[in-house]
Amino acid sequence: MTRTQHHELLIVGGGTAGITVAAQLGGKDAAPKMAIVDPSPVHYYQPLWTLVGGGVYPREASMRAMADVIPSGTTWIRDAVTGFDPEKHAVKLASGMTLTYDQLVVAPGIQLDWDKIEGLVEALGKDGVTSNYSYETVNYTWDLIRSFDGGDAVFTFPSTPIKCAGAPQKIMWLAEEAFRRQGVRGKARVTFASAGGAIFGVPKYRAALEKLVAERAIQTSYGKDLVAVRPQSREAVFRDVASGAEHVLRYDLLHVSPPQSAPDVVKRSPLAQEGPLGWVDVDKHTLQHVRYPNVFSLGDASSLPCSKTGAAIRKQAPVVVENLLAFRAGNPLAARYDGYASCPLVTGYGKVILAEFGYDGVIMETFPFDQAKERYSMYALKAHALPNVYWNGMLRGRM
Ligand code: FAD
Repeated sequence: MTRTQHHELLIVGGGTAGITVAAQLGGKDAAPKMAIVDPSPVHYYQPLWTLVGGGVYPREASMRAMADVIPSGTTWIRDAVTGFDPEKHAVKLASGMTLTYDQLVVAPGIQLDWDKIEGLVEALGKDGVTSNYSYETVNYTWDLIRSFDGGDAVFTFPSTPIKCAGAPQKIMWLAEEAFRRQGVRGKARVTFASAGGAIFGVPKYRAALEKLVAERAIQTSYGKDLVAVRPQSREAVFRDVASGAEHVLRYDLLHVSPPQSAPDVVKRSPLAQEGPLGWVDVDKHTLQHVRYPNVFSLGDASSLPCSKTGAAIRKQAPVVVENLLAFRAGNPLAARYDGYASCPLVTGYGKVILAEFGYDGVIMETFPFDQAKERYSMYALKAHALPNVYWNGMLRGRM
């Protein structure tokens, strides 16, 4: 027997986006009755993983029980969505249950495609191969950095869009400084190997980062996409993006930022944008689905052509909330998202360049000083203020 349950508003994903939307809506008079579907018993503040990998925080500081972040009055359905049927206003769950809805917010985050790199699944978490992109391996990043005794440290960046495009290099800057402190920098070669063509996309911050690359003697290898890891010979195999030629780097420490895409359940659904990455196809200003008007999406799973960050979600969530309420009331959707995202580029212990920009790389800085300069104050914001803002402000609907 198939069980069916109806909800006025169904939110798929209790991550940064799903919880923020539910918390903000909960404070509104016209709020619908809400349910969040998420199988995970815990919620992560992933921005902390950069500092965990750098030995600044224990990884447990990035985690809370899911039950503690679900807003009061919102039902938590501890299950995974296995199919979307937007024509019927329904989703299927792993348990076999069907949920129907009046409106749907799709926020299941991004999928880490570890298996797209040959040999990586087997190699990850041992023998010098690590990643800050997983709670499971983030402690190993610090183990490798603090015990590094010279040799090749390689930091990769894939060819797909990823969450926090600054994260692959932030851990490199921390490692480089740690090697200096440990007295092994002279015996170390630090390489940033990226499928992209530059250290960062936005020209203002790129220029500042390129200066640091030169000052700190970082080797760069652009247009190189990691395709295989050979742990026996400690080789990272790259494909040259332009020529297709194979390019091999030896490593003693390999930090991998994996290729990423929308979760498969979204990719194979009618909600997906055309193309291999399958993001939820929404209007980039209203965040409403382009074919199913009672569906909205935000965060990493959405097609929004912004930098995929929690900071972006802080600006997307109020747009979803306002437009969803307008939709329910039969009014035009007036709220618009301008692509704002911010990326606190950790460039060392006590140093951050705070990049803030919108669609098409338009600079959108908050502070009345040159944010392309490394500053301790911006590090303090990233390391001490923002975690507090996240748990006690954003997830409670107060930002
Ligand atoms: P998530 O927060 O990942 O949540 C997705 C949720 O959906 C999860 O709870 C998951 O269990 C659930 N889910 C998945 N599949 C299903 C399903 N089938 N059914 C139901 N539920 C499902 N951002 C910043 O702003 N600043 C930073 O400095 C920063 N640094 C970062 C550093 C690292 C190393 C990483 C990994 C990320 C960083 N980010 C940063 C990015 C930020 O964490 C993400 O952009 C943000 O968490 C995305 O929110 P989300 O809700 O879209 O996805």
